[in-house]
Amino acid sequence: MKTFRVLLLLLLTVLLLPVRVASADEPTAETVTEIYSAEDMLKIPANPNGSYRLMCDLDLSGIEWPSFAFYGTFDGNGHMIINLNCPKVSEETRVTYDGNRKTYDTHFAGLFAILDHATVKNVRLLGLSLFHTVECDCFLGGIAGYATDSTIEGCEITGTIRLDVKGKMFGVGGIIGYGNAVIRNCHADVTLVNIDLDATTRDEEFLGGVCAAGYPDIEGCEIKLAGFLSDHGFVHSGGLVGMYIVYPKKFDRNGFIKNTVLNGFITFFEDNTNRRAYCKEDCGEVMDWEFHTSGNKFSFKRDERKTYNVNLMPHGDCKNPDMSESTVAPQCQTPGYTLHVCHTCGYTYSDNYVLPIHTLSETYETLTASTVEAEGLGEFTCTECGAKVRKAIPALTPTPMPAPKPTATPTVAPSSDKTDKQKDDSSSGSILPYLLPVIIGVPLGAIAAFAYRAYRKKQIRKKRAAQARRNRAKQNREQ
Ligand SMILES: [Zn+2]
Ligand SMILES: [Zn+2]
Repeated sequence: MKTFRVLLLLLLTVLLLPVRVASADEPTAETVTEIYSAEDMLKIPANPNGSYRLMCDLDLSGIEWPSFAFYGTFDGNGHMIINLNCPKVSEETRVTYDGNRKTYDTHFAGLFAILDHATVKNVRLLGLSLFHTVECDCFLGGIAGYATDSTIEGCEITGTIRLDVKGKMFGVGGIIGYGNAVIRNCHADVTLVNIDLDATTRDEEFLGGVCAAGYPDIEGCEIKLAGFLSDHGFVHSGGLVGMYIVYPKKFDRNGFIKNTVLNGFITFFEDNTNRRAYCKEDCGEVMDWEFHTSGNKFSFKRDERKTYNVNLMPHGDCKNPDMSESTVAPQCQTPGYTLHVCHTCGYTYSDNYVLPIHTLSETYETLTASTVEAEGLGEFTCTECGAKVRKAIPALTPTPMPAPKPTATPTVAPSSDKTDKQKDDSSSGSILPYLLPVIIGVPLGAIAAFAYRAYRKKQIRKKRAAQARRNRAKQNREQ
């Protein structure tokens, strides 16, 4: 009886197995997951080893972007991400090293808090406004707060990164905060602000247009930097790198900083009787000169202040601020935003970013056909720039009787007919794995049920015969 149940269970498992396999479509490290929405973006932390490709421009406003460690590949595919809102620094820490190679468990934030053997490429992080006030050791960077053995290439970062901090080891970088990475062909136009809130602790503070501290390799980048650094400790700041340090201990390497253009300034104070005041165009302090430089062009202003009671801020020097704002409309390939200008000093900044607006084709390719119950999904083409844009297609209105002709279907491109047909074909093809178990399963199940019933009947007959024997024996005894 027991063996019979086990057999039945096995049979059922075998029958159900193909259905489960067919429905499983979890992304693996090999497959590239396409990202079409903020919701898709929010699935990345669940599979931080995955490979991702951005398929359209994304507005992340209204989303709390988490700070997490990423080990995979993120391909921005030339698209922009606007209104990144990352309210918390990472809970996960990594070790950072100061100039004496003292270590600190440090927290991070950026588009990615931590990049570890990861690749980030071709993403445009526009109108960034990353602002954290923390009481811990912390580094911020546009693409990543921390990077190790990673590659960042073809990325663009514009906006402001600001860290107000009570800590001992902290800093702000335009592309990465702390670490080592190959940073190639990136553009940054950034305002970096780092304010030390704790005047009594002699902390280590870092700021760099590319990287606050570490040993990045930099090639073919264009950096525009406005740096503001207020510190009651030790300042390490540079147009490209705040402190160049090879860690955990010095080792031979062939690093490089080449073919990179820098335009910018760093305004800072170092409130410290034991002043170092590192601030240079390329690397503020160089601990270990293990890199080669060539083909760079620097235009840099070192602007040190000696008053320590007012924190240095963009537009802090304007005697008579007179701001006005105007709206810049979104174009096909540029976002819209509000531009703020000071009429006294010319200081400008922008906020309220909106996504580019494309002129959509009338026809589209049906990705999901709309039904009476649900809206569908179509892929339109921009008539100006050729961008592919996905948009919901309204649900069908119920067609009045007696003419169920396809008049209610929206205009469909000739190509989409083919696509629909292909889709139908593929869907009827793909239904086979689901039907097969039924085709095989139903007769097998019937046989199994029949066999089981026969087995039960036999058992009952046996039982009855035994009972009859016992009754007869009883009667015999009584006689
Ligand atoms: Zn002004
Ligand atoms: Zn367009």
